[in-house]
Amino acid sequence: MTKNLSIPFQGPISNVFDVVHAFWIAGGSCDGCSIATVGATSPSVENLLNGTIPGAAKVILHHPVLAVNAGEEFMKPFRLAAKGELGAPFVVLCEGSIMDEGMAAETGGYWSGLGADEDDNGDPQPIPSSSWVTRMSEHAAAVVAVGTCATWGGIPAAANNPTNSASVMDLLGEDYRSTLGLPVVNIPGCAPQGDNITETIVSVLMFLNGLTPLPEFDELGRPSWLFDETVHRGCTRAGFYEEGNFAEEHGDKECLVEVGCWGPVVQCNINKRGAINHVGGCMNVGAPCIGCTMPGFPDSFAPFYKTPPGTMVSSNISRVTGTVIRNLREMSMNNLNRTAKWDKDGHVPSGWGHVREPNMIKKVVKYAYQKMQFSDSPKPGSKK
Ligand code: SF4
Ligand code: SF4
Repeated sequence: MTKNLSIPFQGPISNVFDVVHAFWIAGGSCDGCSIATVGATSPSVENLLNGTIPGAAKVILHHPVLAVNAGEEFMKPFRLAAKGELGAPFVVLCEGSIMDEGMAAETGGYWSGLGADEDDNGDPQPIPSSSWVTRMSEHAAAVVAVGTCATWGGIPAAANNPTNSASVMDLLGEDYRSTLGLPVVNIPGCAPQGDNITETIVSVLMFLNGLTPLPEFDELGRPSWLFDETVHRGCTRAGFYEEGNFAEEHGDKECLVEVGCWGPVVQCNINKRGAINHVGGCMNVGAPCIGCTMPGFPDSFAPFYKTPPGTMVSSNISRVTGTVIRNLREMSMNNLNRTAKWDKDGHVPSGWGHVREPNMIKKVVKYAYQKMQFSDSPKPGSKK
């Protein structure tokens, strides 16, 4: 269960929903979160739309870019949902930051919107995205902020913030609860990993149908099972860090911390999950972490691609201890690259290159090592 929220698990309920609507509302965004979502594979958007996930309702998606219908026909379900008259449960998926529409209105404009209402003169006026979020959140089973702009404000809310941008959580406030009793659910990332989005939606749909307990979210509304660990802990380069081996320039294979990686202090799972279909992911393709999932992004991670100050302590300690560990491991590895026969013959019969025989010191170290290794169990081949 969630740490700070107590919603009892009631088990399967009688009115299991076959269909749930999902309304996608874009504020100040680059559409990257939409692209990330349609790239998801586990589960995919197609799985959600076709209702092929056991226990999860079939999703009817209302997305301004992906929709087939247009105009009032497209807007009608939004209007019904905002009035609480849709006749089916729905979730609101928010992409992009919430820009200050009051500020835009002072000059007669707007930042981002969807559809139009008539003003007092009968002229159509755009309906700001933030207004849709506020109107629909009252009747929504869940409000899910997708991507760092929607979860924390993101790049539009960076220093100077000319649009006075903020997050969905800032807009709705800490007292907000959906009809399911949930505060805003946050899936950060710029753009987020697509499977993180679809998997969280499915877990909410399962909870909606009473088939699972509420999954665990942290105190910032992030799915804990996706964001509890640092990116460093799942990094394919973490072994280099441990052995004090650091990249000096982009393109090197070692740990990227000295060319600007913030991975040790950033909560993100992209290295474990890949960018799409378990392929890619920042360090897997040579990119240092710039902290795009974190509320402090981007300002707290600037300037990008410079060694983070905390690294001066940790990577230098690692450089000292890692050098010792690396040399000991290399010695063991050389021993493990030999067969018992080669040891006996004192020669490796490889035509690919000359393999140096261990000197006396290495032989003594190996003898001592094996003494410890087989201290309480028989050595293979021994007669004891
Ligand atoms: S590249 Fe970054 S995340 Fe990976 S081991 Fe180095 S510091 Fe950690
Ligand atoms: S590793 Fe860092 S930069 Fe890459 S997605 Fe995760 S938080 Fe963003």
